[in-house]
Amino acid sequence: MKRYLITGASRGIGRAIAEKLAAPDVTLLLHGRDTVALAETCKSVKSRCARVISLIHDLALGKGVSDLITEVGDEPLDLLVNNAGVAVVKPFGEITQVEWEQTLGVNVTAPFLLMQRFAPDMPPGSSIVNVLSIAAKTGFAGWSAYCMSKFALEGFSQSVRAELRDHKIRVINIYPAATDTNIWKAVEGDWPRDQMISPEDVATAVAFALAQRSEVLVENITLGNLGGDL
Ligand code: NAP
Repeated sequence: MKRYLITGASRGIGRAIAEKLAAPDVTLLLHGRDTVALAETCKSVKSRCARVISLIHDLALGKGVSDLITEVGDEPLDLLVNNAGVAVVKPFGEITQVEWEQTLGVNVTAPFLLMQRFAPDMPPGSSIVNVLSIAAKTGFAGWSAYCMSKFALEGFSQSVRAELRDHKIRVINIYPAATDTNIWKAVEGDWPRDQMISPEDVATAVAFALAQRSEVLVENITLGNLGGDL
């Protein structure tokens, strides 16, 4: 039996990844904060996987991360997907320290702590997937806190990838362009959600990378929008 932990699986890209990776030989450990939304994800994958475990924790808080780690337990993971993320979008002069720290907590510190705890026990052939963004490569006006967090995770995960090569653990980074999820609800402006790529497109890319022979490391997948940046 394989064990897959996916953070931020209550909606959006995380939910689509859970739905894509559900399989009879897999226990899905699905994390979120919103109990109702996470229950919906669990319901949609339940009949297609061996077992589903729902984990409700706030990853902006150190205690939330440590409680998640405790609940996941000591049995090794075959896959860790660092997907949970927040986007504070405003001019840098208006970002509060609390918003800055929440962004760092969810987008950087939580993936760091989860990789640090779980990678040492992961068997050869297992994988870590980090959901980054095109904002891990380019700074966009109004997105400074978000870009800061994704650039930080980019640097961290590149180094972790190099450290884990000898352990035969693959670190796969995914860089989606604007994707039609609820993350955009809190972003001011008129965003053409119908022109964005879909969460399923991102999940398909994750599944592609994972489906390769364990000796093959698909290091990075950038999913652009053919119509250009929105
Ligand atoms: P979403 O629909 O808003 O989902 C975000 C997920 O992260 C939810 O499951 C949410 O949990 C979880 N989350 C947020 N804050 C959390 C916290 N404090 N503690 C625990 N969980 C928390 O957004 P999404 O677009 O699917 O985002 C998923 C990932 O893709 C993020 O890392 C995002 O940066 C990245 N990404 C998104 C886009 C895009 O355009 N949508 C593009 C590139 C990369 P609850 O809802 O249960 O609170």
